[in-house]
Amino acid sequence: MSEFGLPGAAGPNGKLAALSRGGNATSNGVLAALSPEAFGRLKPFLRERFFRDGHVLWKGGERPDRVYFPVSGMISLVVAAKPGAALEVGSVGRESAVGFDGGADAPTAPASGVVHASGTFVHMPAREFAAASRQSEELHRVELVCREWILAQAQQVAVCNAIHSADARFGRWLARAAEATGSDVVAVTQEVAAEMLGLRRTTVTLIAQNLQAAGIIRYQRGVITILDHTGLRGAACSCSASLGPSRWPSRLVASRADGAGADRPSAEAANRSG
Ligand SMILES: [Zn+2]
Repeated sequence: MSEFGLPGAAGPNGKLAALSRGGNATSNGVLAALSPEAFGRLKPFLRERFFRDGHVLWKGGERPDRVYFPVSGMISLVVAAKPGAALEVGSVGRESAVGFDGGADAPTAPASGVVHASGTFVHMPAREFAAASRQSEELHRVELVCREWILAQAQQVAVCNAIHSADARFGRWLARAAEATGSDVVAVTQEVAAEMLGLRRTTVTLIAQNLQAAGIIRYQRGVITILDHTGLRGAACSCSASLGPSRWPSRLVASRADGAGADRPSAEAANRSG
């Protein structure tokens, strides 16, 4: 976990431990980075739920009615390309949150939110987050930073799909999935990976075979295990580094809170000591 700069089970203030009493969930990085004051505004509304791979949280053109803070799974933002096919334009893992209510005047986004790595998600009503963010500059900034993160991914993915090879794009996608979930084990079928990247399934099969032969991954029955992160970064395109941890909302929120002189350890400091 420490590789990703996110806290362990309790978070810097033990906040999620209180939320998921008796559970062993690791925390969402954005929630863990909040000041006690900001977290306190959200806490009464926070709930936890496990969602399976393939669960549609909201459909494109709809307003998500809940804000999701992934703890161990990943949400893919997908846009329908043609009947039965949808491309991923971004993803949200434990480094961020998604589903903010922009208000009735805001345009709805074309992307659907689909769980593409089963896991635990903390969630709350979007209208309650909106109400809290109107009263808290910190929460308002969290929303902006999380929205910018999705926009940055969409822009990078647009460039990636246009100029980078299928091999490099698959490497980028796999590295991102591992970072988002904080796990070396990515439960995804080759069909889903191919769809997210707009590739033929046979192309993905060939790429996965090559990575496996190079000792970078092991692929078994819908589960990819990353054996060599350095090798995977080498196989991925430069987009992977452009969307690295220094851009993550969890880092930006934490650094802002620390810079403001909050009298608590940062997520990373807590990590180092733990
Ligand atoms: Zn790329």
